[in-house]
Amino acid sequence: MDARSLIDELYREMDLSREGWLALIGARSHLQDDDREYLYALARKRAQEHYGKDIFLRGLIEFSNFCKNDCFYCGIRRDNSELHRYRLTKDEIVKCADTGYHLNFRTAVLQSGEDRGYSDDDICEIVRAIKKMHPDMAVTLSIGEKEKESYQMYFDAGADRYLLRHETANAAHYRAMHPPDLSMRHRMDCLFTLKEIGYQVGAGFMVGSPHQTDACYADDMRFLKTLGPHMIGIGPFIPHHATPFKNDPPGTLEDTLFFLALLRLAFPKALIPATTALGTIDPRGRELGILAGANVVMPNLSPRGVRRDYLLYDGKICTGDEAAECRRCMELRMEKIGYHVVTSRGDYRG
Ligand code: SAH
Repeated sequence: MDARSLIDELYREMDLSREGWLALIGARSHLQDDDREYLYALARKRAQEHYGKDIFLRGLIEFSNFCKNDCFYCGIRRDNSELHRYRLTKDEIVKCADTGYHLNFRTAVLQSGEDRGYSDDDICEIVRAIKKMHPDMAVTLSIGEKEKESYQMYFDAGADRYLLRHETANAAHYRAMHPPDLSMRHRMDCLFTLKEIGYQVGAGFMVGSPHQTDACYADDMRFLKTLGPHMIGIGPFIPHHATPFKNDPPGTLEDTLFFLALLRLAFPKALIPATTALGTIDPRGRELGILAGANVVMPNLSPRGVRRDYLLYDGKICTGDEAAECRRCMELRMEKIGYHVVTSRGDYRG
C-alpha cells in the first residue's frame, strides 16, 4: 500500500496493524512535500474537530535538577558533575504557580529529576498549597517513577495529571538508552498504575534518539494504543555535551512533525504539546508542531535564575526570559498562525 492509502486508513480507523505502522513509518523518508502537507492537513482537521483552534497553556516549573538516575541522553543525569544543582523551596514552587495563575495559566506542571530531597509529604504539601490558593488550577506532576502509594498520596492531595514519558516501548532500545538499574517494564507499570488511580496520564518518547529504528516507533505506537494516554509528549532528541550521547545527531524537524501528525490521527482527542525541544531545533518548530496537529504549548514558569541549570539538552531556548514574556510571546506566535491561546485548564475531553 502506498503512503497516502496508509494515511487514509489511519485517519479512518485511528490505528494500523504492526505491518501498517512499519510501512507508513518507513515511508517517511521518501514522502513528497504534498504527501506531508496532506498528512498535516488531516491531523489539523482532526484536532479542530475536538478542540477548534484553541491552544492550551501549561506553565512548566522545573523545580529541581537533582536526579538519582543516569539516563544516557539526559543532561541532568546523576553522573554529570559539571552541572550546578539546585532545588527550589516549597514556597518558591508555590509562588511560581501563583505567578502563573496571574498570567492566566490554569495548569502548573511541576517537573524535576528524580530527587530524593523532597519527601512524599513535601510534594503533597506543595500540591495542597497550590490547590488551596487556586482551586481552578490543574496541577500536573512530572517527577518520575514512584511507588503506587506515593502516586496515590499525591492524587489524594489534589494532583490532577501526571507526565511520565515511556521513552521507548522497544526493549533493546530501552537498554541502549538507560543504565541496567532502570527497567522499561517498571516505567510502563507506573503508567498503568497512574491511570488506574485516576490521573490524566501523559506518555511519550523522543524522536531521532540514538539506536532508534522504525520498529521502535511502531512499538511506541502500539504501546500507546494499549495504554490509551490522555496526553502524549514527543520532541526531538537533542545531544547534551556532558552525556554519553554527546556526539549523536539530533532528531529532525521533519520526523518530529511526521510523528506528531500520526499521533493526532491515532489519538484524536489527546492533548499533544508542541514542545520546547521542537522550538529549539527550529525557530518555527512550535508553530509547525501546531500545524501538524499539536494543541498544547508549555511556556516556562521557572525562576529565571535556574533555567540554565535545567538543561536536559544543549541550546534550550527561552532560558533568559521572564514568565510574562514567554506567555506573551507564545500568544503572539499562535495568533500569527490563526490559533488562540485560551485561559482554561485544558482537560481531556473524553
Ligand atoms: N524525571 C522526570 C522528568 C524527566 S525530563 C521523569 O522521569 O519523567 C523530561 C523529558 O525530557 C524526558 O522524559 C525525556 O524524554 C526528555 N529529554 C531528556 N533528555 C533529552 C534530550 N537530550 N533531548 C530531548 N529530550 C530529552
